[in-house]
Amino acid sequence: VWPEPILHVDMDSFFVEVERLADASLRGIPVAVGGSGRRGVIASASYEARRFGVHSAQPTATALRMCPELRVVAPSHDRYSEVSAAVFEVFRSYTPVVEGLSLDEAFLDVGGLRLHLPSAVAVGESVRKKLRDDLGLPASVGIASVKFIAKLASKAAKPDDVFHVPAESQKAFLADLGAESMWGVGPATLAALERLGVETIGDIATMPVETLVSALGPTNGRHLHDLANGIDPRAVVPDAEAKSVSVEETYPYDLETRNVMDTSLLGLAQRLSSRLRVSGLRCRTLTLKLRKADFTTVTRSTTAETAFDGSRQIYGLAVGLLDSIADPRAVRLLGLGGTSLESASEPVQRQLDADEDWERVEDSVAEVQARFGAGSVGPARLLKGRISRNRGEEPR
Ligand SMILES: [Mg+2]
Repeated sequence: VWPEPILHVDMDSFFVEVERLADASLRGIPVAVGGSGRRGVIASASYEARRFGVHSAQPTATALRMCPELRVVAPSHDRYSEVSAAVFEVFRSYTPVVEGLSLDEAFLDVGGLRLHLPSAVAVGESVRKKLRDDLGLPASVGIASVKFIAKLASKAAKPDDVFHVPAESQKAFLADLGAESMWGVGPATLAALERLGVETIGDIATMPVETLVSALGPTNGRHLHDLANGIDPRAVVPDAEAKSVSVEETYPYDLETRNVMDTSLLGLAQRLSSRLRVSGLRCRTLTLKLRKADFTTVTRSTTAETAFDGSRQIYGLAVGLLDSIADPRAVRLLGLGGTSLESASEPVQRQLDADEDWERVEDSVAEVQARFGAGSVGPARLLKGRISRNRGEEPR
């Protein structure tokens, strides 16, 4: 049995690297993927750009001040979903125990490969080589006995390397890391830790568990004490048991009319449908998220009789959910999420009113998108929506 069977694989500046596959002029220079509108935010920065202090979640205007020669590329989300599906296919060619955290990172439990490969480190190197050879993408891999240390190790590996934390040296590895780097520690917990004078994970590890319990409550206090001491009972949960798949978009200008919102929902429905299909999942519950210009967020959910993944059904349900929100105006963000997920390979009871012709169309659309890119086919209305939205982005 391998003492460190958990891999955390994290693609290096994933969006940027996918853009570089299509445009070689982006190689070796500071590049960021992000919005260029007035609410534009950096989604991914190349390592050349990070040297100037550019980072994700930063307003694009700030990034351009820090690095005036920065090339800012508009995101191509459909392409990222497609390449992500290929990345996950590589992961699943090693083990079925793959838990995706986002489009570009996942935990892999590779313990089952011990009869085939000499060590978990050899698996990590092999995964990296395959991603590089087959897809042309760099990735960093953290290897450890438990999930949370593997996640920290991949960060230590970046960019483009492997970092292995042997079980016997994990305490030393954790000791000097900042408490804020602990995975799953939110701002409230961090603030409480700061009040206790905690700076590093080592500080948490050596603190009496009673102190943590009285500051954070019994569940959180003990959990954090365990993590800091390298104890993380969370197993790698394969994606078929994933909790949700979601997509969202922040708009450069507030959406004011119902027509524009419906068009945006159609685009989101298509993206959610393609995300579900590439993951081999169907959902039973659909949630609409709507954020207004004043940052109030409203969510509405609905659950269907049978699981679904088709964009037309998602769109129909989404429009119904939007109908249930009084006066949806000044909308800055819309999102759709699918929960109550089921594996698409499970036989579903067909709905009596299912429109089989439409399903055939959707299947062939999915096939064409898989082969030629998600932008290759789609409802005509979406195309119109794109044109008018682009027009809306132009400075007035
Ligand atoms: Mg990444």
